[in-house]
Amino acid sequence: MANCAIVGINWGDEGKGRMVDLLTERYDIVIRFQGGGNAGHTVVNDKGKFALHLLPSGIFRENVVNILGNGVALDPENLLSEMKAVTDQGVPITPENLKISDHASLLLPWHRDLDELEEQRLADKQYGSTKQGIAPFYSDKYQKKTGLAGELFYPEILREHLKDIMEWKNLTLTRVYGAEPYTMEMLEAWLENACEKIRPFVCDTHTFLKQALKDGKNILFEAQLGSLRDLDFGIIPYTTSSNTIAAYAPIGAGIPSARVDDIVGVVKAYSTCVGEGPFVAEMFGKEADELREKGFEYGAKTGRARRVGPLDIVATRYGVEVQGATEIALTKLDVLSYLDKIPVCTRYKLNGEETDIFPFPSVLDRAEPVIEYFDGWKCDVSGVRKWEDLPEAARNYVLYIEKQINCPITYVSVGPERDSYIYKGK
Ligand code: GDP
Repeated sequence: MANCAIVGINWGDEGKGRMVDLLTERYDIVIRFQGGGNAGHTVVNDKGKFALHLLPSGIFRENVVNILGNGVALDPENLLSEMKAVTDQGVPITPENLKISDHASLLLPWHRDLDELEEQRLADKQYGSTKQGIAPFYSDKYQKKTGLAGELFYPEILREHLKDIMEWKNLTLTRVYGAEPYTMEMLEAWLENACEKIRPFVCDTHTFLKQALKDGKNILFEAQLGSLRDLDFGIIPYTTSSNTIAAYAPIGAGIPSARVDDIVGVVKAYSTCVGEGPFVAEMFGKEADELREKGFEYGAKTGRARRVGPLDIVATRYGVEVQGATEIALTKLDVLSYLDKIPVCTRYKLNGEETDIFPFPSVLDRAEPVIEYFDGWKCDVSGVRKWEDLPEAARNYVLYIEKQINCPITYVSVGPERDSYIYKGK
């Protein structure tokens, strides 16, 4: 069978975790290939309700091997607390079902501090960071100023390495930000309390995956966030600091030669966006509050109220294109059931002209949405499991989106639970 990537088409929070949880049934291995614990996937299944941040969403399936690839921001402290929360809910995590790439770089204790300090310095020009240290981590990774998970097997080399990086980093902490310096005692505590505990999970995942490919195993690549948060193709600088697109999956997963045969793009039936930055189709006031409440749009990691708006065709079409999506899972259609008329942002108005091309990031905040309205269906669709049982207005809405974004919508999700979906097919 084929390899597959599940990716976000928009700003994140599209419901990727829910789709990975559903589709892992068909895969042997699930790999998180980028990002850190700065966002969250909410998964609801027969084992309970879970907020995952770094753990791959295949962790709930017996016989699925979950991997944290070399592309992730490996935060040992956060990972440990997430593992504890999941095992406390009765889901086993062992070195058999969770493997951490020895080439994953370590998010070091000062990365979180630097994230916070820089957002403070930016004051009213903040990037809207979740302050999990992701941007400082990736900057340091590219400067080769962090350690690899595999160094945990070579304590002396690791300590020497950390000491050198700490001395360099203390210059920034103290001289640029006026903060307290780190000491080796602080790092020893971090090594003992967090790193030692994740060490049993660290291994040579590259060799493991090479063999898995030879054996014909099926791999699912799981992304965090969405196209518009991609470091190269997103709404710079309001992006994350890694590549969220499927093209990066084989690299960040640790098997650069693997083919990604299917790319399932996840799109929400309306738009949401967490944090700062241009959000052309944003709704405000009562209309926005109602949609936020109906969709329960609060961040899984931060609890922050998400900004909401109608589906944005311009941004979604662009997102589909940069992901190279081969099919789409449309989620949260059930949330729109209360609306008489469904608003959709069909084009943008920029410099006095209408356009359907996603603008260059620097001028995105000048774009205005062109809104059109579609008939609502005004009935509960959360129990519907067959395409032909959806009300005609709901089918028309789905078919309209499909046509506009040039990609078949194969799944329509009508609830957060594993089985609350309709397989529409191509
Ligand atoms: P992710 O990061 O892309 O996995 O998305 P999040 O987990 O942050 O946000 C998606 C939210 O929507 C979660 O709370 C899911 O449980 C929920 N969800 C996913 N699909 C559906 C759906 O079809 N209907 C409803 N009502 N909720 C859904």
